[in-house]
Amino acid sequence: MIVCAATNNPGKLRELRRILEKAGHQVRSLRELGIDLDPEETGATFAENARIKAAAFCRASGLPTVADDSGLCVDALDGAPGVYSARYAGVHGDDEANNRKLLAAMAGVPAARRAARFVSAVCFMLPDGRALTVEGACPGCVADAPAGDNGFGYDPLFIPDRVGVGRTTAENTARRTYAQLADGEKDAISHRGRAMEKLEAALPAFLAGALATDERNAL
Ligand code: IMP
Repeated sequence: MIVCAATNNPGKLRELRRILEKAGHQVRSLRELGIDLDPEETGATFAENARIKAAAFCRASGLPTVADDSGLCVDALDGAPGVYSARYAGVHGDDEANNRKLLAAMAGVPAARRAARFVSAVCFMLPDGRALTVEGACPGCVADAPAGDNGFGYDPLFIPDRVGVGRTTAENTARRTYAQLADGEKDAISHRGRAMEKLEAALPAFLAGALATDERNAL
């Protein structure tokens, strides 16, 4: 299926593209489609914001669209930065400032109280407005200092509880951060990877119910 990957975040685009292409889809980015839009994320939840983005970009592209809204929820900070993850330090998408603010907020918090989880809500929307939303999460904790160069956002500060490839995972005894994982390793255990896996699993039944036979054949 040809799908619009509805994100202005280059890090997310890379991940959505490799996950969707691995699942056999053809991906069109917003840049490739000539779409310059920044819908306001007014939702109170990841799922609401994913739907807002999917609707805006699906309308603009006319294509089946996948949008992700995601963030880091830290227990010791009562779930912050949560839906405000991208603009935690004030400026949308300033990863370095966000990481600095997170480290400062967690200064002095002992290891036993540094638990956090990454959450991703993924909304798949068809041009007729029907939508399917799924969520994935990855439990872990906030590191004391950044480590690793891969990925984006809070990756250098997030230590997932488990790592592995495919369905085989083991405790992350080396305490590698998301930013120290290879692409395939991150996708196998990440919040986004898990949400996309759920989406793939649910998609056939959703499409069968949502579309008339001739529309299905056209995809
Ligand atoms: P959104 O574009 O409003 O969903 O904002 C997502 C924000 O959450 C990003 O800007 C990052 O700060 C953070 N985030 C989401 N997913 C990841 C990830 O996989 N790694 C690191 N940071 C992430």
